Amino acid sequence: MPTLTGRTALVTGASRGIGRGLAQALAAEGAAVLCVATNEALLKEAVGGIEAGGGKAAWAVADVSKSAEADAVVERILKDFGRLDILVNNAGITRDNLLMRMKDEEFDRVLEVNLKGAFNLIRAAARPMMKARGGKIINIASVVGLVGNPGQANYSASKGGMIAMTKSVAKELGSRGITANCVCPGFIDTEMTQKLTDDQKKALSQNIALGRFGTVQDVAAVVTFLAGPGSDYMTGQEIVVDGGMVM
Ligand code: NAP
Repeated sequence: MPTLTGRTALVTGASRGIGRGLAQALAAEGAAVLCVATNEALLKEAVGGIEAGGGKAAWAVADVSKSAEADAVVERILKDFGRLDILVNNAGITRDNLLMRMKDEEFDRVLEVNLKGAFNLIRAAARPMMKARGGKIINIASVVGLVGNPGQANYSASKGGMIAMTKSVAKELGSRGITANCVCPGFIDTEMTQKLTDDQKKALSQNIALGRFGTVQDVAAVVTFLAGPGSDYMTGQEIVVDGGMVM
């Protein structure tokens, strides 16, 4: 039995990678999904895939780091689908560099997209969710937001900030029936990690108890749980999905 029938979800970064898989998984559970990203062609492809599988979806181009664009996509889902039950903040970028070489632009852009982008969407979604006295906010952070990583001062700061922000949101909106949780993936096989060589992947896998990178489906299973009724009494949590790398 689908667990999300009659629900609607807004997924950022749904044009490819983890976000596209999350949109597919939520649609397969019966949710109507608004897919948001900046690449129109890839968004159309993602929505086409969901519709081909019998799911309901639409797309909207937006840069999540711009608050007016975040407001507009929340208005759009309310107009098209009538409600907003699930917000998945998945859009994210990396601009890796060693601390001493990191440019202001590399630090600022990662914070703007990963952290401010999630804030923009949460702020926009809070009003309709409060009015409906319910909602599920799911933020895709990272294990590096918990333990740090050399060469990723900007990215780990954005993900650590996201984890802390999630707890504040959980405390602020809990009395309105709104939950906010984080998923912290480890290494997941997507374009973001395809930059690594086979040798690097092999070396990294040696520190993973399960001995392999995760799949998009591994993350989608947890997000679907957090979006559904089984997690109604969970909020302010970070759930690590990393094959036992950080423990
Ligand atoms: P990806 O393949 O690079 O996809 C990133 C997504 O974010 C794309 O859909 C991209 O779409 C979108 N995006 C980027 N900038 C945006 C912006 N300004 N506004 C709207 N959308 C934007 O990355 P991924 O591996 O799927 O990662 C997804 C999330 O999981 C990220 O937050 C990442 O930090 C996190 N994560 C990934 C891993 C991993 O191992 N892959 C591990 C831990 C956490 P457009 O290019 O179309 O805008």
